[in-house]
Amino acid sequence: MTPKRVGDRVGVGAQSLSCLKPDCEQCANGEEQHCQNDMTGTYDSKYPNGDKSYGGYANYWRGPSHFVLKIPDSIPSEDAAPMLCGGITVFSPLTKNGCGPGKWVGIVGVGGLGHFGLLYAKVRRRLPSVPSPVSSSDIEQALGADEVVAVSRTSTKKADAQKMGADRFSRSSFLSIVYPLLSVSKGLTG
Ligand SMILES: [Zn+2]
Repeated sequence: MTPKRVGDRVGVGAQSLSCLKPDCEQCANGEEQHCQNDMTGTYDSKYPNGDKSYGGYANYWRGPSHFVLKIPDSIPSEDAAPMLCGGITVFSPLTKNGCGPGKWVGIVGVGGLGHFGLLYAKVRRRLPSVPSPVSSSDIEQALGADEVVAVSRTSTKKADAQKMGADRFSRSSFLSIVYPLLSVSKGLTG
């Protein structure tokens, strides 16, 4: 993690505290948001001493520097802020489910989270240092899905979805997509 120093411009995500103990399964595996001991959310949550967290309405924030990220100079604060909550909310499932070359991704809903999903699913990132000889194509890795499909209730989001990287757009309701998936899931588990 990039070191933080006094004077740095930093941001905090949706978590402000967890136990961070090495024997905590969640904290030890980078899943602090699921910590069963002292997990304190940044918004409308309670610190262990009973104090309340006020999110963006707070005048000050307190917590371990572990939960603080240095914002690169190239990223304006107003662009960085939503990445710290909505952005990571979709970045995590994309990476955990293997989004990358050779994969198709469907993003249901082109809103506050969905637009990040479209942007992230298509982006290709370059590893900062890879031993040579390795071709440039080999050092590009996830994300970078082959095809991204945006699904929205109305066509009004089509142009925006395409601008953000969607290869295809489908107008459909959320429930018409989720209900068949639920019935398949029920069949598998029942
Ligand atoms: Zn923990």
